Amino acid sequence: MSENDSNPWDVIIVGAGFAGLTAGIAAAEAGARTLIVESEAVPGGGASISSGILWAPQSTADLTGYVTDGDPALQSAYCDNFFPALEWFMSHGLPLSQPAPLGDLGIGIVMEGGTAGKKHEFMALMAEAARRKGAEIRFNAPLQSAVRSEDGYLVNLGGGKMPVRTRAIVFAGGGFQANSELVDRYIGANAARAFYQRGMPANTGAGLQTALSLGAGESRNMNHVYGHSMPDAPLPPERLQPLTAYIALHSIAVNRAGKRFVNETEGKLEEVILEEAWKQDGGVFWLIFDDRTYRQFGIDTGISPALPKIDRLVEWRAVGAPVFEARSLEELAQQLHETEGVSYDALETINTFNAACHAGTAENLDPPRSINPDPVEHGPFYALRARGGLSATCGGIRVDDAMRVLDSAGNALPGLYAAGVDAGGVFGRYYGGWLGWALVSGWLAGQGTAAR
Ligand SMILES: Cc1cc2nc3c(=O)[nH]c(=O)nc-3n(C[C@H](O)[C@H](O)[C@H](O)COP(=O)(O)OP(=O)(O)OC[C@H]3O[C@@H](n4cnc5c(N)ncnc54)[C@H](O)[C@@H]3O)c2cc1C
Repeated sequence: MSENDSNPWDVIIVGAGFAGLTAGIAAAEAGARTLIVESEAVPGGGASISSGILWAPQSTADLTGYVTDGDPALQSAYCDNFFPALEWFMSHGLPLSQPAPLGDLGIGIVMEGGTAGKKHEFMALMAEAARRKGAEIRFNAPLQSAVRSEDGYLVNLGGGKMPVRTRAIVFAGGGFQANSELVDRYIGANAARAFYQRGMPANTGAGLQTALSLGAGESRNMNHVYGHSMPDAPLPPERLQPLTAYIALHSIAVNRAGKRFVNETEGKLEEVILEEAWKQDGGVFWLIFDDRTYRQFGIDTGISPALPKIDRLVEWRAVGAPVFEARSLEELAQQLHETEGVSYDALETINTFNAACHAGTAENLDPPRSINPDPVEHGPFYALRARGGLSATCGGIRVDDAMRVLDSAGNALPGLYAAGVDAGGVFGRYYGGWLGWALVSGWLAGQGTAAR
């Protein structure tokens, strides 16, 4: 036990990722004795390997207009507090760009100007900002469990150490995307095996499980996920973001039966492909695109200048991802059939898609294609075998608009808060900015614990 543990902490924050560090800065700044515990040896969590684009929709109406299944109270808390939280955040001298419009996503700022590899440094600076305000950060200190005590909670950090006393806990452990048992339980049977892990291995849902053991309720949307299409090849964490198959937004996605199974452009960032991809045979699908699309979006994704301009076709091949190339669509369909076992019906699927794009009826296809009706007709033609890359779980601990943890009847549990991906229900089938949510929910949770 550390000397500092002899008196109860005002708050223990679980996780030194974006939400946890934000909560730590806010709580310590407001005068709370703050301990941040992190299971890994360094701070950062998912943000350290992210694109670093901290964004939020322009308004609550904008968010509720397309994330139709999210919790309206959380969505208002998010959008109404985004600019105040951002202003507060920017006052801490961190290297951030100025807020700017981000296409139809909303408004965004970029960490470290979006420079690849610099997000670790940014997260280290956030940790430093929390320490400057008086927070202590303890690494290699995983939350394992917690129980109620007379003056709050006893938190077990493993390693045979004495439990640590605290008046409040903020769960900011990044959700349960890396816990295959929980993914299978909440998302669907055998989902974990089908997904590609596009997130932090440490995010195993200890926050959710501990909160449930203390009486918390589950949020809505426990079965929804967020992520992107990934090449079906193993990648180290720092390559997950650059090698993401952002081209999915301009491709046709077909399953082993050679059929389209999803509107590839539903949602704002192709997140809906994931919702359907894990249900396909073997969890895999093939993204089919032509040379024109590859030249237009394979290097510069067109999504944000913060995404690196790299030749993804070259990079995918270099890591051994299954990429197929042919001079004609017939030849591509034959290759996929012979080497991947994809039904030759894929050819008819592509021809039907192309005809609808030319006729302006792509929206009437089944499944429809709502935007980017780009016919696949300029050879050479390509196919990438892909999987749904799971970055975050949309359901989690049930919270109110002040990030207080609620039981299943909607009553607040004393001294318990959640933030970031651990705080579930703001997003569902669609999504509106994880880093923006981590900022706002972390800020609210940190202030809430200090106000106690
Ligand atoms: C490749 C990639 C690119 C992305 N790009 C963007 C982007 O540009 N914009 C955007 O908005 N979002 C993006 N995201 C999503 C975003 O980065 C995350 O959703 C966000 O960082 C989540 O913040 P968090 O604090 O909730 O969780 P995390 O940042 O993951 O932090 C959770 C922390 O808790 C720790 N932890 C877990 N379990 C325990 C435990 N038992 N005890 C103690 N500590 C624990 C973890 O080690 C981690 O440090 C991206 C994600 C990925 C993977």
